[in-house]
Amino acid sequence: MNFLITGAAGFLGSNLANNLAREGHQVRALDDLSTGDPQSLSPDVLFTRGDVNDRPKLWTLLQDVDCVYHLAARVLVAESILYPREYNAVNVGGTVSLMEAMRDVGVRRVVLISSGAVYGDQGEQPLKEDASPSPRSPYAVSKLSAEYYIRSIGDLWSIETVSLRVFNAYGPGQHLPPSHPPVIPNFLHQAVRDGTLVVHSDGSQTRDYVFVDDVVNAMVAAATAPSIDKLRINVGSGTETSVRQLVQFVLEVTNSKAEVVYNPRTDPGVSRMCADLTLAREKLNYRPRVSLQDGLFLTLERDLRFSREVPTRPLKS
Ligand code: NAD
Repeated sequence: MNFLITGAAGFLGSNLANNLAREGHQVRALDDLSTGDPQSLSPDVLFTRGDVNDRPKLWTLLQDVDCVYHLAARVLVAESILYPREYNAVNVGGTVSLMEAMRDVGVRRVVLISSGAVYGDQGEQPLKEDASPSPRSPYAVSKLSAEYYIRSIGDLWSIETVSLRVFNAYGPGQHLPPSHPPVIPNFLHQAVRDGTLVVHSDGSQTRDYVFVDDVVNAMVAAATAPSIDKLRINVGSGTETSVRQLVQFVLEVTNSKAEVVYNPRTDPGVSRMCADLTLAREKLNYRPRVSLQDGLFLTLERDLRFSREVPTRPLKS
């Protein structure tokens, strides 16, 4: 098949692009390199530097494409609170530009990589797709708006659309920005140096951490799965883990003597997050394979940034 992936030089995009190219597909990659790294892409992926709002470029890149994966976005919740206009321009505006270009060229399917963040705080866990969304940050609002835009424009112009609500993805190659870094690469980075792990609040907040290979499997399946038009589908591990438990796993897997500091003054964010995977199982035949402990171990093993000697132990899966 012929694919276009926006945001392809990023963490999830590069893993997806390389996987599809390995399987023999034609993969075009678009990324403005605002955070992405083109070196993360295999030479078999055709890379173009560009903005997802550049429709003339999209018209060219979309020729003969069977399916688009839309990942280009600004992705930091805390940053979105400071710069909501930028998050709206890229995450919402970029999605609308892409949908217009897809309409003009006539592409059959788009897979939007949305986020579990659209749920916000919910009374019931695990989170089912029909829960009423309650986004808490401009980032979460932008992902929810993108879901609505692809669905409505897709419906009007007969483009099949599906939104994968990915929960907290992690794994080798995840971007580690100096401010507001994602929790897992940040904790690993601190742990391998016997530094300090700073936990927001008391660490009782929970998340659903999903290893990148499992996310890639769900994304690949979404390109061809039948009867998924207009659906929103959760992609997580289905396991709820508190940040306290995560700290323990990180210390164990790195054999670290890092200090752990609980900061009661910082906002822990949403209190609980766990994905219900019933729909993903049914529609995408999705079954996450990698436990959090094994995923942390694989991240250390495969990511050169954590290349300090780490203790080896047998992998469970
Ligand atoms: P990432 O920052 O590594 O990837 C995003 C990519 O988009 C980067 O390479 C960046 O350079 C590119 N980009 C940004 N603005 C662009 C623009 N205007 N034009 C073209 N490219 C642009 O982040 P990621 O973790 O790989 O996330 C990829 C997608 O998955 C995002 O849409 C994000 O919202 C979604 N998502 C990620 C997670 C996660 O845990 N990593 C969870 C839920 C959803």
